[in-house]
Amino acid sequence: MRTGKRFSIGRWLVLSSLWLWAASQAQVGRTLVLDDFESTDSAKKWEGGVQLSQERSTHGTHSALVRLEPGHSQISTTKLPQDWRNYNRLLFDIYCDSETMSVAALRIYDSIGADSGGPNGDDYYEARGKILIQKGWNHVEVKLQPLRAASDERDLSLEHIRRLVISADRTRLPWTFYLDNVRLVAGQEGRETASRAQLQDPVTVLENGRFTMRQGVRAEDVPESAAVNALRKEAQKQADLLRETIRAAQLQGLETIYQERHLVTSDIGLQIRPRLAWYNNDEKKHEMFSYVAESCRRGRRELEDKIQGSDRLPEADDTQVSEPLIRPLPRLKGRPISGSYFLDDRNEPMMIVSLHSPSQVLQRFFATPYQHIESYTVGGGSRWSVYDSPVYAAFQKWPDTHRVGWDGWCGHLIRDVNSMAGKKRENIVICLESPHIKEAVKEYIQTNIPKFHANPELLYDIEAYELMYICYCERSQRMFHEWLGKKYGAVERANEKWSTSYKSFGEVVPPPVKDSKPLPGTNRALWYDWARFNQDRFTDYLLWVRSLIREIDPKTPLTAGGSSSMLAGRTGTTGIDEERIVNELDDVILHEGGESTLGLDLQLALSEKKKPLADPEMYLDSVQHLLPHFLHGKSVVQLFHWPAQPSSELHALTASSLAHSWKYPLADVGDLLRTALDVRRLNQEIAAFSNVPAEVAILYSQTATLQLPPEMLTWQTTPYLAELEKTYTASQYLDAKVTFVTERQISKGWLNRYKLLLVPGVRNIPGAVFDKISEYASQGGRVLVVPESFLGDEYNRSADYLARLGITVRETQRPKPGGLGAMVQGYDQSFSQAATFADSAPQQLMTAGAEGFEPIGELKTGGVRQIFEMKGNAKILARYTHGEPAIVQMPAGKGLIYYSGSLLEERSYARLLETVFREAGITRPVRMRMVGGGDSRNIEARFAPLGSRKLFYVVNYSPAPARLAVDSAAARVSHLLELRGGKEIRGVEITVPAHQTAIYEMF
Ligand SMILES: [Zn+2]
Repeated sequence: MRTGKRFSIGRWLVLSSLWLWAASQAQVGRTLVLDDFESTDSAKKWEGGVQLSQERSTHGTHSALVRLEPGHSQISTTKLPQDWRNYNRLLFDIYCDSETMSVAALRIYDSIGADSGGPNGDDYYEARGKILIQKGWNHVEVKLQPLRAASDERDLSLEHIRRLVISADRTRLPWTFYLDNVRLVAGQEGRETASRAQLQDPVTVLENGRFTMRQGVRAEDVPESAAVNALRKEAQKQADLLRETIRAAQLQGLETIYQERHLVTSDIGLQIRPRLAWYNNDEKKHEMFSYVAESCRRGRRELEDKIQGSDRLPEADDTQVSEPLIRPLPRLKGRPISGSYFLDDRNEPMMIVSLHSPSQVLQRFFATPYQHIESYTVGGGSRWSVYDSPVYAAFQKWPDTHRVGWDGWCGHLIRDVNSMAGKKRENIVICLESPHIKEAVKEYIQTNIPKFHANPELLYDIEAYELMYICYCERSQRMFHEWLGKKYGAVERANEKWSTSYKSFGEVVPPPVKDSKPLPGTNRALWYDWARFNQDRFTDYLLWVRSLIREIDPKTPLTAGGSSSMLAGRTGTTGIDEERIVNELDDVILHEGGESTLGLDLQLALSEKKKPLADPEMYLDSVQHLLPHFLHGKSVVQLFHWPAQPSSELHALTASSLAHSWKYPLADVGDLLRTALDVRRLNQEIAAFSNVPAEVAILYSQTATLQLPPEMLTWQTTPYLAELEKTYTASQYLDAKVTFVTERQISKGWLNRYKLLLVPGVRNIPGAVFDKISEYASQGGRVLVVPESFLGDEYNRSADYLARLGITVRETQRPKPGGLGAMVQGYDQSFSQAATFADSAPQQLMTAGAEGFEPIGELKTGGVRQIFEMKGNAKILARYTHGEPAIVQMPAGKGLIYYSGSLLEERSYARLLETVFREAGITRPVRMRMVGGGDSRNIEARFAPLGSRKLFYVVNYSPAPARLAVDSAAARVSHLLELRGGKEIRGVEITVPAHQTAIYEMF
């Protein structure tokens, strides 16, 4: 075949010119083979899962087959030649079979730090997050002169290289790969030792902490099959035709912005990604070029139909010129706020999506990235800018500016040796009580705020975020003593809560921490007060910073916080009281996160007044999550990120790059652009959903996040938070909005806003809050309680709350240690009346056939189980296999308490909630029913009125299309209009594609 022949000749020319070039080099350099796995002794030199294999090799006939597993995630050797002085590169090859990308890490130790890693544990060379392994052979080259230690304090001594370690980094274990031809080279490598390689094989070159990843030849010289080449031409042709059609449509005044998005994906698919090592192969190019050809053809035909008039524009007053479909955003500075939104020049709610990107072209679709700044005013500088800040000078000069008693992450105040980036690796961990720091911060604010706030697009200023702070200096201790004095008046009252015998507050020593958590045996009552104090003083400090900014600029909306710590074990050491920050500091609420909507719903719920919610650094694990976040009330987003180039520091940064990542196919990029336009076009409809009040609330107990056994403070989650999350998920797919209610809100009497309160394993709660819950039930509210709730007060003292509800727990069965992993294993047992270890296998509950509760079916438990008795005339809803009551409904005045003695597995819990929602009369104007049966797990639907319009949205979180029948309680529905695509649907049956969100209007 003609094409085939030309192709192979071309390839021969490239190869032969490489040889010619190699031969023309003055002399062949030196090579020292460290291990090419040709000798049977080779495998013995290595520790870890290494075997010789003949399956693959880049040199000789053998290689090492390496298998990494959890607990055995590295291989290493100390038996290689040690003098590396006469060489300037370390080379080796890795082959992987897996389609998914993996990242390997490399460590090299010299004589000084061979075993321990030196005094700081980082006295070795390390390449972590820099060696991306794709399917096929990957060639790695490490420049040796010099080889800088990870501590950045010295170069390794190449005379004595003692140990080489290769490990898995950000990969799913087990991971199997082949390793071959590990060697040192100086100058041009001779052919006898060089690896066999294909032109398209990726080559990673590591040099001083930076890397480049390319292929063996320039991208255009990588062989391409005739079929892919033909597809490339077709894609190019379709892109050109679309571009011409857009020009013609614009001449006619037709709207083209939605079709223009296909030109962005065609540039990415034809010009940018084919130049990247992980995309420049026939398989990926086939996929990309097919998408470009198809999407450009589709976009062109849409416009052609408009040009011809076969697709009619909406009828309009023909004496008026219509306005653009997506109105340009006004200048962002000074936009007024009303309720949950910034308002545009027509007083409509604004939906703002910008990209963390230097691209001007993309601002056709996105808002300006200048929409916000992080002013770093909390610490008076960032890890980059602190060196020019008066804070750095003060830190150098005054010892009282240094943090005391904390050995964990510095919380961006300001940097420690583990901080990424910045000029040098150095500890600058500041104390915020020091008058010298405060003076310097004040000066920083006075110098910088006028400059920062001159930005004409500035919507809001973040004082700083991802914050945490704790300090044990003398000033902190004095402030703690004063705080205690104010709280308790007399020390005896505190002694009573803490079971101590202090003579004065001045004697009280805050419980110390080691390895970021309180010591084992810490007095948990005293710790609780210390953690509360630390939150108060840090919030007060943030408010002081706010007041300094306000002296200079009375208007620009401000915000701060550390939203992620609300949902982690560490809250007690972060000083972050998100609820106080949201209510006392924030003009705009801050939230970071692009996956579950839980955190964002919680942030909104904390606020007593409606405020806009912004995400300054939204990382989309998956593009499908963007629109649900807007529908839940996020309205200002900056997406992280669309950089000009792929990263040379960490592959993880490239993995999150919307332009370059192997994670986002072109269809996802196209989808993202469409969503960015849709949220602006459908701004009023989207805003309608966040204005609907919720009738169900989950108890967010700050006490339960602070009153923890010491070891839990370093856990990612706690039993309470895990149950909170399960409750959120179990209630998410029941077609009703569910929110959170806090202890402070309950104290203010907020419970009467809700028809149902869900209590997710809130073990400790203040007595006054419990009283309010009990009062709410007696006045007609409904409360659903699951274990282990209501066992103690905020000082971890046993409380009689359950007895007051009429419940007596006879026995508590916990899963066997190890049965459910570390989290359950460490669960504190201080209040349990009787504790035995039950079999970790989940139990099936039998329904008791109570009226109204028949549809719950069989329920499965998962976790703690209580055998309990109850007083009064309780209705039994489900029983354990031995017949004891498992779930009961008890009257409480005018209301009801539902008590479940066991934690339920998520789907069972959802079925129980479905019934309880119905019994409680939760308003659900539309219900989704799966056509053909089955529960609608992963289908989130919500209804909202907008004036006289009736809207609902459906998010399909599942990986399959969902066929749904829409049941409307209100009236007969004749047809539906899907507002994103403009499609009319007769009847009430809809299909929502996998991972998609649709918004409908009912008629
Ligand atoms: Zn301090």
